[in-house]
Amino acid sequence: MVNVTADLDERLRRPGRTGSVRLGGTTVTFVPDGAIQGRPGAWLPDSTDAFWTAHPEYLDESGHLVASVGGLLVEHGDRALLIDAGFGPHSVAADPETPNGAMRGGALLDNLAKLGRRPEQIEAVAFSHLHLDHLGWVPQTSPDTGLPVFARAEYLVAEPEWAQRAALEAAGTPKEALAALARRVRTVSDGQEIFPGVQVRITSGHTAGHAEFVITGGGTRLIAFGDSMHSPVQADHPEWSCVYDHDPARAADHRRRLRQRGGHGHRSRSGPLPSGPVLKERSCGTTAQLRSRTHVRPGRCRGGSSPSGASWPTCGSQAGRRRCPGPRWSGRAPSRPARRR
Ligand SMILES: [Zn+2]
Repeated sequence: MVNVTADLDERLRRPGRTGSVRLGGTTVTFVPDGAIQGRPGAWLPDSTDAFWTAHPEYLDESGHLVASVGGLLVEHGDRALLIDAGFGPHSVAADPETPNGAMRGGALLDNLAKLGRRPEQIEAVAFSHLHLDHLGWVPQTSPDTGLPVFARAEYLVAEPEWAQRAALEAAGTPKEALAALARRVRTVSDGQEIFPGVQVRITSGHTAGHAEFVITGGGTRLIAFGDSMHSPVQADHPEWSCVYDHDPARAADHRRRLRQRGGHGHRSRSGPLPSGPVLKERSCGTTAQLRSRTHVRPGRCRGGSSPSGASWPTCGSQAGRRRCPGPRWSGRAPSRPARRR
């Protein structure tokens, strides 16, 4: 017999693996690049040592939180969009002067190849925000051609994030990455559709111009929420902002909104996408019902609607009832490397 609880706990403390979900004619796949460790009390300063002692399931064997880094591949027919571009081919040892443990990337292109995708087939790379662990492959060039890795891609950045790039550079985003972006950047605005069924939503908080992407297909809505969360524990404690959040109060408010959308799920990465910064809503768009292992929050399905205009009536169910499929929590965000990212 499979020990489900043990499996879910194990997922909390290891890097995410490749995983896909079909949304009608669209396939969404988490493509791992690497992982970043974080010291729990440093990443989440409002947490306590007593909490981590009581909840070791969130920590790896060295006592760190573990955050995946990677990209989210969105395929629709022959077309391909990538959301975020990993940490890149770098490895950084743990530095006790920072909130981070060890950081490593470099697997993104190999994992894309395993999925049958070459980076030059990516028509656009959309960024949730401009921290280094989301644009690590942007300044890289192909050893075969000398061209940028994403040779044909536009770089899509939310307008307010691009406007803040000088401040981001001062906080640690490398100049060469921003210069590489600038050559092919296209700014996008709140509500804009950037790919079939993919809509931008500006969600300032983690950074001044942070964005999430709402992916709709087959009656299902997936929210790629970037760094609005850094650990699954924030589903139970949305008030715990990350040390890297630009506006902690605003970031916490957005996590509460995400939790309201993420009903009928487990706090862990238990959905069809076993990893990555993704929240899934299904069918009725049930609200306010994220279920943790320790409690079920009551709430009533109120129906929902998609960015494309589709809507679902209420199914009338309460949290936890099986007949309402509800949205499903299925991931957590990667975090960033040294300094303020
Ligand atoms: Zn970030």
